[in-house]
Amino acid sequence: MNSVPSVPSVAKSIGERSTDNGERPLIPYGRQLIEEDDIAAVVEVLRSDWLTTGPKVAEFERAVADFVGAQHAVAVSSGTAALHCAMYAIGIGPGDEVILPPMTFAATANAVLFQGGVPVFVDVDPDTLLLDPNQVEAKITRGTKAIVAVDYAGHPCDYDALRDIAQRHGLFLVADACHALGAEYKGREVGTLADLTVFSFHPVKHITTGEGGMITTDDPELARRLRLFRNHGITTDHRQREEQGSWCYEMVELGYNYRITDFQCALGVSQLNKLPKWLARRQEIARIYDEAFAGFPYVMPLSVSNDVLHAYHLYVVRIMDKEPSKKRESVFKHLREKGIGANVHYPPVHLHPFYRKRFNTGAGLCPVAEQAYDHILSLPMFPKLKSHEQEYVIKTIKEIWS
Ligand SMILES: *Cc1c(COP(=O)(O)O)cnc(C)c1O
Repeated sequence: MNSVPSVPSVAKSIGERSTDNGERPLIPYGRQLIEEDDIAAVVEVLRSDWLTTGPKVAEFERAVADFVGAQHAVAVSSGTAALHCAMYAIGIGPGDEVILPPMTFAATANAVLFQGGVPVFVDVDPDTLLLDPNQVEAKITRGTKAIVAVDYAGHPCDYDALRDIAQRHGLFLVADACHALGAEYKGREVGTLADLTVFSFHPVKHITTGEGGMITTDDPELARRLRLFRNHGITTDHRQREEQGSWCYEMVELGYNYRITDFQCALGVSQLNKLPKWLARRQEIARIYDEAFAGFPYVMPLSVSNDVLHAYHLYVVRIMDKEPSKKRESVFKHLREKGIGANVHYPPVHLHPFYRKRFNTGAGLCPVAEQAYDHILSLPMFPKLKSHEQEYVIKTIKEIWS
């Protein structure tokens, strides 16, 4: 497998300011947008009494729950922590099998392992690179406990089909919607379509808290378990004890410290206010790319179903040319040289050395994802991308074939 982008290299590409030779500023594939009112919101909390687990955590949870139309939201320290909390809440334990697609960030599968479970990779649809519902049932065994749907690039999965399978087999359905905050499926909001829905607030995602994550659910019992796991398995948090004037607490389960701070949540609340505007801008950028590459056979955007609202965390194209100098790898290098920080999402998880070694996975397990991986490229997509920058990206790509 070719160079696997590690987490540090992803982080670097976000803050990166120049090309390798330092000539011109690099246009990254994604970037946060922090404005003065965001900064003021954080500073206000820094001057207050609560730095962690205070009123801003509850306010951010309420705001996200309302935004997606869910009953409950539980904020945690990262999207990865949110996935781990989700696996705990639905009771994943040693040997339990969890079905998930390989076309995702490693954390989706890692969270299953954190609880001793076994990730079972099911291939994706060739047009959307989303978990293919038609291939799920063949992988269900007596040990299967859950399906994790990944809304790759911001396109919601086929939730009607997945929910139907989950119901018939008595499985939990979890949505890894780290790419899909604000997306809709058949007029219903992502965040309400699965038993649990996980979001990330890493700086490349739709809104950021620096690091942060959230789980939404309509099930009060699952919400209770998420809160327990976030705070060492202790039944009350410090703020609740303060309010009750009590020192007594009980640890009833083994949990973690997955709490998020109040100043991060102040940033989250401030950012969430801008989300509708930013989603519209992402959709506009996508439309301009769509038009630019329509009828251009070498650069093929992924398909979009007509019954979804795509949140466009990523804009992914497939580079389709057999000539070595015009394959994805060469196109990627060429764009980097021209100051365009295109990226590849993702090396299929089952091909990572860790998974090969631990589960004996490898090439041939998910041929659609493996084949797609040789062709995909994520183009710059973030609200602050300037029109002339996008034009430059399009022109630079098309020039390769002129
Ligand atoms: C970003 C992301 C995660 C992990 O989120 P962090 O906040 O970085 O821990 C998990 N799954 C997917 C699909 C992601 O894109």
